[in-house]
Amino acid sequence: MRELVARVMDSRLADLLSLWRQPGMDDADPLIRFAAHADHLLVIEAEAGSNRYAHYGSAFVTCFGMDLGGQVIDLLPPEILPADRRFMLEFEYGFVSRNARPLWRSYTAHFAEDKVETWQRLVLPAGRDRLVVGAYPVKPITGEGPSALLNLLIERVPAVLSDDGMIVDLALSLGAFCDNSRHAAELEVLATRDPLTGINNRRHFDHLAGLELDHARRMGRSFSLLALDIDHFKRINDTWGHAAGDEALKSFVAACRVALREYDILGRVGGEEFAVALPHTGLDGARVIAERLRRQVEEMVVRPAKGDLFDLTVSIGISTNRDTDVSIASLLERADTALYRAKNGGRNRVEVAD
Ligand code: GH3
Ligand code: MG
Ligand code: MG
Repeated sequence: MRELVARVMDSRLADLLSLWRQPGMDDADPLIRFAAHADHLLVIEAEAGSNRYAHYGSAFVTCFGMDLGGQVIDLLPPEILPADRRFMLEFEYGFVSRNARPLWRSYTAHFAEDKVETWQRLVLPAGRDRLVVGAYPVKPITGEGPSALLNLLIERVPAVLSDDGMIVDLALSLGAFCDNSRHAAELEVLATRDPLTGINNRRHFDHLAGLELDHARRMGRSFSLLALDIDHFKRINDTWGHAAGDEALKSFVAACRVALREYDILGRVGGEEFAVALPHTGLDGARVIAERLRRQVEEMVVRPAKGDLFDLTVSIGISTNRDTDVSIASLLERADTALYRAKNGGRNRVEVAD
């Protein structure tokens, strides 16, 4: 395998790998250590789950005509990082961070309509929460027979390298990626959960609530929706600080959980705006639940890590499904209108859509 790696890996990346293998890596600043490769080097500070480009030398400017320093991967425009590639990048960076193993891959990129290039990349762990990515354009690997197939395979599939540059495993075989299930679960959490409160994010709420609405339509069952907005939340932030505001959001969610049933779907649809989908629930039932929730929030006390205790209230709008509701959007709109009335009517109250 080592020979194969040596044969197909760009020599500049091989140099980078041997540089990485030299001792003292942990205390050296990667930028200084790999300065000779800086033209094609990316140093990533992996902080709080997001990957920030701290530096990419001049490679981004050369290839994309802009400096992407400080960009978070998620914010990169789709022409630079298409949605279907994001997953792979996160996957690679996550794998290298967790396993402290170099990962090497080549890929073909369409930088512009008439500019298709094959690049090789090497992702190296560089101390705590830091990765170094080396990348170079190369000639695509060609040839015939079994070795060409193997070449093609390692050209297209992320290869996990040992410290001395051998292929330990390919992403195709589950061996090296046996942690895959855990990683998939992490990605699932990232994609569906609100990071602060742990409940469904807006997109996932829409998805789950949409499924329940479809079900209700097919079975001729009732279905209701609550739109919730915490009262005077800005005042809470202003009085007790943003961190206390965050605590309040978590306490609020805990109170909602107490008031709701196992199968109700709770989602954070905005900053201090939430929604609840109530399957098998008509107007009367929804009113009871909304009132219970409102009271639960009213009675709860927020205990921030620092500072005084305080309390909060919530305003709630209710809508119930009609034959014309084919998506959650129309139900949410009616619930929002009712919510608006609850706000105007003095807050800390429940209103039902017409
Ligand atoms: P109203 O009773 O009319 O709803 O008043 P309000 O102050 O709640 O109204 P508004 O929607 O204008 O303000 C919402 C505030 O919530 C503004 C924003 O700073 C704050 N906010 C949004 N998301 C977060 C968050 O994640 N954490 C914290 N601490 N505050 C947030
Ligand atoms: Mg609001
Ligand atoms: Mg509010």
